[in-house]
Amino acid sequence: MATAFELDQKDALARFKKEFYQPEGQIYMDGNSLGLLSKQAEAKLMNLLASWKVHGIDGWTEGEEPWFTLAEELSARIAPIVGAKPSEVMVTGSITANIHQMLSTVFQPTTKRFAIVVDELNFPSDIYAVESHLRLRGLDPATAMRKVKSRDNYTLHYEDIVAQLQGDVAILLLPSVLYRSGQLLPLREITAAAHARGILAGFDLAHSIGALPHQLHEADVDFAVWCHYKYMNSGPGGTGGLYIHERHHHLPPGTAGWFGSDKEKQFDMDHHFSKAEGAGAYQIGTPNIFSMAPLLGSLELFEDAGMDAIREKSLKLTALLRQLIGEHLPELLDVTPVEDENRGGHIALSHPEAARICKALKQAGVVPDFRAPNIIRLAPVAFYTSFSDVEEMVGRLKNIMHGELYKNFTNDRNVVA
Ligand SMILES: *Cc1c(COP(=O)(O)O)cnc(C)c1O
Repeated sequence: MATAFELDQKDALARFKKEFYQPEGQIYMDGNSLGLLSKQAEAKLMNLLASWKVHGIDGWTEGEEPWFTLAEELSARIAPIVGAKPSEVMVTGSITANIHQMLSTVFQPTTKRFAIVVDELNFPSDIYAVESHLRLRGLDPATAMRKVKSRDNYTLHYEDIVAQLQGDVAILLLPSVLYRSGQLLPLREITAAAHARGILAGFDLAHSIGALPHQLHEADVDFAVWCHYKYMNSGPGGTGGLYIHERHHHLPPGTAGWFGSDKEKQFDMDHHFSKAEGAGAYQIGTPNIFSMAPLLGSLELFEDAGMDAIREKSLKLTALLRQLIGEHLPELLDVTPVEDENRGGHIALSHPEAARICKALKQAGVVPDFRAPNIIRLAPVAFYTSFSDVEEMVGRLKNIMHGELYKNFTNDRNVVA
């Protein structure tokens, strides 16, 4: 295998590192939780603030990026990133809010089909959303929410997913990439298995968007939700996104609001709701302009680099990382699937002292990510992590493990972990 130095020499994306803000000497491995700020994202945010300063209310229709159509413009540019038609994508809401919107729209429970399949490893917010949504429909989550079980507490088996697709199931909602182990699920196969049984397939792309290419339309996925503050680098609380296949666009939004209107008619102030044609119909209220602005800049970098090149480098970065961990730190158990086609953009290491190892890493200038109770997530990001950074990070981790430096910290998590 090539050395880190050689890999950096040949890295076609190396030029992007200087576009991101990062303290000197720090190695940032947490881009799967909150991506770093780029100069482009900063500039777009400042532009939109300036348009408020200069135009006041007229900023809705004037200036470089009129606010009234900003979400629609962004959506057309996000569409290729998720492999959808522009009309199928909307930049709006948050993951959790968009799960509510999608369920309220496409979930039409009957006495025969009323259950929603989730998995026992999913992020809590997705589970809270499904449970509360079922209750709103007068259904009991104890019987109407089915969880795919994990055999090893880290990954899901395709057969175990299919086994849950029973005759009374209406919808499945699974992650594309599992937030702890980094397992990438086969969306196309799962969708086909669901459709063969009359079940709709929805996915949460939180940990895959910006890390790898998607083909949502071609894979025939019914709906998807995601955020832009992880690998898409749009900043804390950056507005999220949803995809809904065009065959569902006739459905009125389950939770409607005036920004879901046909834009020509929105200001008619008519009490009759004229819904927008495509995914725009599933917006609710006024878009969060300043939480969308950074995405305009961030997208320039994605369009310049290309999703395939990003995925290619990401796989090489994580391959180097796990190779070095395997060689030098076998006591850190690598729980991410081995095959490239089964893994996303981060590597998950399991260790009983994970919480305090992460604190020691932070003191050593590495920003890792801890997930209770025992997982260290490390996400080298194609845009701003070099192969030498990976090597240097493993060196610092080696010092911590061999010198037992983590024992200087308590083994519990901080409030935000
Ligand atoms: C990050 C993440 C969330 C967060 O949801 P928000 O509504 O954006 O706060 C939800 N689900 C998954 C799987 C996540 O990774």
